[in-house]
Amino acid sequence: MDLQTLSSLHNIFQEVQQKQDWRAALDTLFVSLRDSFIFDNVAIYLEDPRTKGLDVVYARAVGRGKTAEADVVWGESLASEVIAKGAMILKVPKRGTGKTGRLDLAHLLAFPLYIGSKLGGALVFVRFGGPAYSELHIQTAALQAFWTAALIERRDLQEARAELDSVQRQMRLQDDFVSTISHELRTPLGFIKGYSTSLLREDTVWDKATQREFLNIIDEEADRLARLIEDMLESARLQSKTLQFKFSPVRIDALMRDVATRINMHHPELKITFNFETLPPIRGDGTRLSQVFENLFSNAIKYSPGSEIVIGMRASVENIRITFADKGEGISEDYLPFVFERFYRVPGERTVTGTGLGLYICKQIIMAHHGNIWVESVLGKGATFIIELPVAPML
Ligand code: ADP
Repeated sequence: MDLQTLSSLHNIFQEVQQKQDWRAALDTLFVSLRDSFIFDNVAIYLEDPRTKGLDVVYARAVGRGKTAEADVVWGESLASEVIAKGAMILKVPKRGTGKTGRLDLAHLLAFPLYIGSKLGGALVFVRFGGPAYSELHIQTAALQAFWTAALIERRDLQEARAELDSVQRQMRLQDDFVSTISHELRTPLGFIKGYSTSLLREDTVWDKATQREFLNIIDEEADRLARLIEDMLESARLQSKTLQFKFSPVRIDALMRDVATRINMHHPELKITFNFETLPPIRGDGTRLSQVFENLFSNAIKYSPGSEIVIGMRASVENIRITFADKGEGISEDYLPFVFERFYRVPGERTVTGTGLGLYICKQIIMAHHGNIWVESVLGKGATFIIELPVAPML
């Protein structure tokens, strides 16, 4: 091979490898070699390991005006053929059929793709109306097939690694959760046990006011325990997709005001400002949506003590957008992507009680409404939770 060719190949190799996205890498691969090997369309078919059917994972028209999508269907039978054979197939148009249109004269070239040493797909090129592929063209195409398989293998590895990372993170969170939850369960239980033992002591007589105070603490701690257990059960049901939703028309502004009134009864000092436009009713599960709002209030009270809460609501044709803002410490940019994960708690957040389930539950409930929830925050300047709910969800 002459040095000039080798050098060009090296440059193409570098350019392809640098593309992190596999589709972009394939685009570069096919376009950059098109000077040496002319074709109209290319398509990649991969076997679905579950159904054993063929999926078109990539299709591109680089040739004369024909769309790639229109061609992937006929490529499919050739792809199956090449996978069954395990070797290259070249198909040239039959002579004497009377057909003379350029699109009827398809020169097809198909290669099996060995991904991770397993035959799992096919690469099909088509050239309409010829000329026939030369030996050199076929070799260039074979090189592209080899390279395509390597790029798909890289994609599979990247996906597997991302999944592994996520499972590992989930396992770490689960480990933390066990220690958090035992602490969270023990604290209210400790209060309940302590105060009831005190009340039961035969050697001490408590006056009425003290008895009431102790019973109030026991009552509140029992509620806390019940809420905690409810959160755990609910998160398990959401995880297994067995939580039932009951959808009916709800007025989301009225729902938020009700929750705020309840919260204000327990926290009269909390300043809540509403900024609501007139809103249409939406279809939703009122109880679950109230739970989302309660969680946001509870977090604002826990993580931004003393801060005012400003709640905005406005509607567009498609969505109702709710903004729920506090002016507390906020959340560092590093942790923002994770706060909606199950069991996730911002590191160092050990002085405030919690399980890392609240925002996970919120997100699942909003997603069941085909909506979206996210948070924007600048550390030191507060956090704003934003919810978008479709006005007419396809439920
Ligand atoms: P929990 O409150 O039980 O820890 P959540 O899922 O409700 O769990 O919240 C996850 C994390 O997000 C919390 O640990 C906290 O660090 C952070 N967070 C939630 N709301 C706020 C807020 N309003 N301000 C600052 N941090 C918040």
